[in-house]
Amino acid sequence: MIQGSCCCGAVRFELASEPSMMGTCHCSRCRKAGASTIVFVKKEDLNWLQGKEHVALYRPAPPYKYGRCFCKVCGTSLGEILSEDASFPIAANALDTKFGLRNQFHEFVSEKPHWYDICDDAPQSVGHP
Ligand SMILES: [Zn+2]
Ligand SMILES: [Zn+2]
Repeated sequence: MIQGSCCCGAVRFELASEPSMMGTCHCSRCRKAGASTIVFVKKEDLNWLQGKEHVALYRPAPPYKYGRCFCKVCGTSLGEILSEDASFPIAANALDTKFGLRNQFHEFVSEKPHWYDICDDAPQSVGHP
């Protein structure tokens, strides 16, 4: 089991298996939401332990379409954890247990801030890979 939680501990969940992929988005929205590095999880693997009622969803104005979940108490970014899709990204920051994945791509590197240096060999793309 992979454990996950928010900063204040109100939200706790676990994953029955390891995430399938990890990537980092350098776009300004992911950066501001605090969810640049994401992991993809299967909905069937997600078990809520507590605090689902504390999770809020921010829906961006079009053309942006990806909703952003976060803890209403402490603001921790939780990615698309309320998604009804079979698989969706959540913020890697929220995971507490060690797992084997490493970053596999960088996207929207054209929006990367000048103060951040990419220090791994994962492929980089200007937009979506
Ligand atoms: Zn919290
Ligand atoms: Zn992004």
